[in-house]
Amino acid sequence: MDQPNLKGQRRSRTLSRRLREAKLLMRGAMNTDHPIMAHIIPIRRCNLSCTYCNEYDNYSKPVPFETIRHRIELLGKLRTGVITLSGGEPLLHPNLDDIIRAIRQNALLAGLITNGYLLTARRIEELNDAGLDYLQISIDNVMPDDVSKKSLKVLDKKLEILAETAHFHVNINSVLGGGIRNPEDALTVGKRAMELGFTSTVGIIHDGDGQLRPLAPREREVFLEMKKFEKKHFSRVNYFQHSIANGLPSDWRCRAGSRYLYICEDGLVHYCSQQRGFPAKALEEYTVEDIRREYITQKSCAPFCTISCVHQISYFDFFRGKQTRMVEPVPEEQLVTIKRAAGA
Ligand code: SF4
Ligand code: SF4
Repeated sequence: MDQPNLKGQRRSRTLSRRLREAKLLMRGAMNTDHPIMAHIIPIRRCNLSCTYCNEYDNYSKPVPFETIRHRIELLGKLRTGVITLSGGEPLLHPNLDDIIRAIRQNALLAGLITNGYLLTARRIEELNDAGLDYLQISIDNVMPDDVSKKSLKVLDKKLEILAETAHFHVNINSVLGGGIRNPEDALTVGKRAMELGFTSTVGIIHDGDGQLRPLAPREREVFLEMKKFEKKHFSRVNYFQHSIANGLPSDWRCRAGSRYLYICEDGLVHYCSQQRGFPAKALEEYTVEDIRREYITQKSCAPFCTISCVHQISYFDFFRGKQTRMVEPVPEEQLVTIKRAAGA
């Protein structure tokens, strides 16, 4: 495909996406009775085994396409705005393109979080054709090691192909904390993402309950350096992470279970990937009453939570919707340990 043609296609896809995003924002601002984003797990299996990860296995079968299509329709009826496919590794699902098409047919925005290993020029063209809106790849280090193989060295060629071929928005997420050896790697990854014309974000790795592991001094410095880039190039570095990077609790209202839903492979709604088990109600039975209840429910794990997608969605209602109910998904004794470790 020649470059002017590619540019034209990208422009028209970007325009269409922006129009749909604008609608979503307006609807979200006018009414709080619906989810803005849902994550769906089409397959729990992953082709990698990052040592910090508790979201994958190496044996699960893909969820049948018809089951996922039904879940997408249910989310559409709840007036969800965006469905993001996560895993495991969603590119292992044999019907991934049909799933993306089903999301778009239900008038929702379609996103995909992948480790990028299975991307090829042809696969990217297929994702273009299916109507994917967003893709995010997390890159953990420059060289693969025993913690993670999601490395710039392994994935750089794929990133170049993405830059040449993708019609959808691409974000590269780098991470700090959680045993990642060289914090400087996050800077290298972020710079490379910008060079290729992608947006870039930085995440702070959480423990198995979505809670903060305080950053070491050098990690904190790198985080602040990346923050300086933000004005020039980085699309979104999350403001809450300033408190988190400094080991302080952040003041926000988690709207998980309401504005954000996590749908596991069994079709249950959970608060998020790290608080599976709450409220763990079947999506089939999830109603606007559940959405309203969770909207006003304060989660005890919120002050030290690092789950960036839920933070971003929850900013939407930052100045409204006081929370008058309380749940404690993380046991109190564990919270005390986390607070002590963070020096709070
Ligand atoms: S690639 Fe993603 S899902 Fe797979 S093990 Fe690593 S962090 Fe987990
Ligand atoms: S505060 Fe919300 S997003 Fe964070 S771990 Fe708790 S339930 Fe999940």
